[in-house]
Amino acid sequence: MSKRPISEGLFTWPLPAPPAQPRLLGSRCEACGAVTFPRSSGCPRCGEERMESCELPSRGTLYTWTTQGFLPKLPYLGPETQKTFEPWAVGYVELGDVIRVEGRLHDVVLEDLAFGMELDVVVRPFRTEEDGTEVYTFGFAPAAQSM
Ligand SMILES: [Zn+2]
Repeated sequence: MSKRPISEGLFTWPLPAPPAQPRLLGSRCEACGAVTFPRSSGCPRCGEERMESCELPSRGTLYTWTTQGFLPKLPYLGPETQKTFEPWAVGYVELGDVIRVEGRLHDVVLEDLAFGMELDVVVRPFRTEEDGTEVYTFGFAPAAQSM
């Protein structure tokens, strides 16, 4: 079965073999050091155009979160329908004190979410296209205890 990322240049692809972890791909301003995600061709802070690509840290801490309590409006392309939808958590995760990234939180119990809890970047199947291609996107899951 073929697989593809939901968008090129968002995270490392193909996925690294465990225990290596996927990384989100950002860019860093060569003038002021500002970091962006996703990659940007210009610095949002100082306007510099020299941006170098960088891999963001694979682990971060939960900064804040909310619950997606209803099926997103079109053009949402996920697999859920009004009948199968279950609320999920969306969090802002601070990666290495450099940037906050929004993503879906996997493998969590809403009541157990806590400010500052450690989360790892994960890349998971998001949906399957008509030709069987699996489309992957990134999110976050509780950090592996063994690490
Ligand atoms: Zn800059």
